Amino acid sequence: TVSLNGDASVTVDRIEDYQEQGASALDNCDGDVTSGLTERMDQVNDYTYQVTYQASDKAGNTGTAVRQVIIRDVVAPEISLKGEETVTIKEREKFEDPGAEAMDDRDGDISDRIVRTGYVDIYRPGSYTVTYTVSDAGGNQAQTERTVVVEQIYSNPKNSVYLTFDDGPSPDVTVQILDTLAKNDVKATFFICDYSESELPLLKRMIAEGHTIGIHGYSHDYKTIYASVDAFMDNIYNLKNKLKQDTGYDAFCIRFPGGSSNTVSKKYCPGIMTNLVQMMTDNGMMYVDWNVSSGDASGKGLSAKKIAANVCGGLKHDRGNIVLMHDTSAKQTTADALQKIIDCAKADGYSFYPITEDTVPVHQGLQN
Ligand code: ZN
Repeated sequence: TVSLNGDASVTVDRIEDYQEQGASALDNCDGDVTSGLTERMDQVNDYTYQVTYQASDKAGNTGTAVRQVIIRDVVAPEISLKGEETVTIKEREKFEDPGAEAMDDRDGDISDRIVRTGYVDIYRPGSYTVTYTVSDAGGNQAQTERTVVVEQIYSNPKNSVYLTFDDGPSPDVTVQILDTLAKNDVKATFFICDYSESELPLLKRMIAEGHTIGIHGYSHDYKTIYASVDAFMDNIYNLKNKLKQDTGYDAFCIRFPGGSSNTVSKKYCPGIMTNLVQMMTDNGMMYVDWNVSSGDASGKGLSAKKIAANVCGGLKHDRGNIVLMHDTSAKQTTADALQKIIDCAKADGYSFYPITEDTVPVHQGLQN
C-alpha cells in the first residue's frame, strides 16, 4: 500500500515551484518498503502533471499512488502608488491623480488594467479614499489605496438661506415669484429647463435683478438624460450654451434632476452619477443639492401653508440652508407660500442669498 505525504492534488504557479513531498509504502508481509519506492513525473497537458509513486514487495506485487500537480497563475500582481500615499488639496482645487502602476510575473506591466474607484468631492472638505485595483489574466487581484484630504477654504454666512426654484421658467408662477422676491429685495437661484422665445424675458429679468441662474437641463426626462454620460453632458451644455447665446450669462452651477443622490439614474446607466459628478467638477461646474425641502414636488399639490411650514420648520441656524422649490405653472401654491417663507425666516434672524461661486453647495452623497 502506497500512501502520499501531503495532498493528492497540489496547485503551483510554475512546475519549478513544485516541492516533492514523497510517499510511504507498507507491505503486510515485508513491513516498511518505502526505501524501494520510485517516483515518476509525467506531463499530462499544459496545465497538469502527474507524479506516480510505485513500490513492490518481495513477492513481486506492485502498489501505486498518484498525485496531480496543477499549474495555475496563483501569484498576484504587484501594485504600487505613483506619488504620495496621502495627498492634501484645497477645497475646489482639482485633484490631479498621479495614479498607480502594476507589474505581474506573467503578464508584465499591467498598469493600463488598473481600475480606480472612490470619488473625491472637492466641494466638501474631508478625507477621501481612492482605491486602485488590478487583476492579472489568471484573475489574481491586487489593490492599493490613497488618502486625499480636502482642506476647507469656503464657508457660508451664518443664518443664510438660499432659495432655489427648479424646472422653470413658467409664464405665470415664475413671474409671481420674481415679483415677490423683488418686493422683499430677496435674491434667489433658478435651476432652469429649456425655455421658449416668449419666456426669454423672464431669464433676462432674473439676471437684471441679481438672481442666479443654474442649469437643471434642457430636458428633464430621466430615461433620456441618464442614458449615458454624453447624453447628460449634452443635456446640460445645450442649455448652458443657449442661455449664454441669448443673454450673455455664463452659468456656473447645475442641479441634477432628482439630485445627486437620485436612485433613478442607475436604472438607465448604473454608476453614472460618480462619472457625472467627477466630470462636472473637472469642468469647473458646481453641482448643488438641497438640505431643506419645501415638499412642493409631491404629486398631490401641497397647500401654501404646508409648503411654508415645511421650509420654515426645516431651517437651521448653524448651516447654509439650501431650499428646494419649484416654479412650473403647476406650482401656484409655491408662489403663494413665498411671502410667508420670507417673513418667517427674516423674523427668525435669517438672511437670503443667491448661490454664487463662493457658496458652499450641499451635496447629498451618491447612491448609484
Ligand atoms: Zn426637477
